[in-house]
Amino acid sequence: MPPRAILRASMVLLMCGWAVAEVHTTSPWAHSAETKESPSAAVPGRSNRLDVRNSTLDRVAQRKVTPGTSQAGNQTLRSATTTAVTVDAARLRDAGIRVLKGTHLILLTDVPVSAAVRELPRVFDAACPLWADYFKIDRQRYDHWRVTGCLMQDRSRFQHVGLLDQDGPKFLHGYAENGMLWWNEQPTAYYRRHLILHEGVHSFMQSMLGGSGAVWYREGMAELLATHRWDGKKLEVGRFPESRREVPMLGRIKLVQDAAGEGRALSVKQVMSIVPRDFEKNEAYAWCWALTAFLDGHPAYRQRFRGLSANVRKPDFTARLVAAYRDDWRELNDEWRFYAANLEHGYDFNRTVIRFTHAPPLPRDGKQVTIRADRGWQNTGTMLIAGVTYEISASGRYQVARQPRVWWSEPGGVSIRYYHGRPLGMLLATVYDDRHDDAADRSDTPFDPVPVGLRTEITPKHTGTLMLRINDSAGELDDNAGTLRITIRPAKPRRASE
Ligand SMILES: [Zn+2]
Repeated sequence: MPPRAILRASMVLLMCGWAVAEVHTTSPWAHSAETKESPSAAVPGRSNRLDVRNSTLDRVAQRKVTPGTSQAGNQTLRSATTTAVTVDAARLRDAGIRVLKGTHLILLTDVPVSAAVRELPRVFDAACPLWADYFKIDRQRYDHWRVTGCLMQDRSRFQHVGLLDQDGPKFLHGYAENGMLWWNEQPTAYYRRHLILHEGVHSFMQSMLGGSGAVWYREGMAELLATHRWDGKKLEVGRFPESRREVPMLGRIKLVQDAAGEGRALSVKQVMSIVPRDFEKNEAYAWCWALTAFLDGHPAYRQRFRGLSANVRKPDFTARLVAAYRDDWRELNDEWRFYAANLEHGYDFNRTVIRFTHAPPLPRDGKQVTIRADRGWQNTGTMLIAGVTYEISASGRYQVARQPRVWWSEPGGVSIRYYHGRPLGMLLATVYDDRHDDAADRSDTPFDPVPVGLRTEITPKHTGTLMLRINDSAGELDDNAGTLRITIRPAKPRRASE
């Protein structure tokens, strides 16, 4: 929308009375509001009609309303979308639909107006500057951006007043088209806000960026920038949930954990190949969120990922993204496979970064290394050769938890708590095969751990870099402290009698 039209929209908004009695269109749905004034928009000062510019709503409304209901005397509200519709407040009221007005969201709802519902436009208004920051959109561009949304308990009420087409889109939870959004009411305040923000991100990206890249990126970004924390005053979006309690009903992490547990983890390539019909199941949203959260959360991949939002209108969006990671594509895929297999609330990207440097073979007389308890897989700088047997032994005492009190562990682990079926704090090893070239096609984890404890012998099936860590959740490394001393040496040849 050109600046002049934005200005006009805001002036009309200021004058609007929000007392509206009927749904009708004021312009053909195909025409652009930027270039043509609708009759009602030219008549300010009388307040019993609400115009909402939106192509879908307009198309819906045209069917509902007798031509000619747009009379002089209507007052018009413009939102920065495409065409105009007039909604009548008295008719909405009769249908049990209330209007809650924010700066960026006009919410029409038949849900009883509790405090959690009343604050929704405020939550939405708090999200817009955060989305704008993320996509580097100037304030003046989104300042007058506004969408209209229907939060519905009983869809028939919205159909009755023409806000939802009888033959309209079938959707599970929410739907966005141009500047118009629809949501089904949800049982938790968190999930209701989440869905409102999710559809809001779709609209925001479409309006501000002119596109949303590929299907996986579109849904992943909507999930990423809808995942939030709200304390009644301050909103944080793009948040990695720290606990299940923080995001009631969201369930994205559990869906990925369940799929991984059943051997159905998706590779990066498979997530990027998700098609629209896959979204009939929440699992597709979970994978798209997991991938965007990974690329946005991992310190090595974040900057390039954020820069790629400039390409959302390019038809080869995904190919450009892959090209941006050309130099570390294999490592990215391996880290993804580890992440997908070990996803947890509060996943600590900084502490699980893997250093993929090539290592020289183990010196003849062995080597000592130090491993930190508060990190994920750590490169020992040692190459182990396939078929050769090595002895790994460990010592040290380190912290593996802080609550309810400090817990100490030695390399054998503590048997009062288990993680992934092994004692918490137990030393684990893996031999990372850095020469495979099919990382993008695999979905198994390249970091299958071998328990070491205080001492073990391993004979790797493939040559690769020895990596070590202690057994703990990737979401609970920050309460660990201390180090382990590790000795790696060629195993002594066994005598025949042994
Ligand atoms: Zn969506």
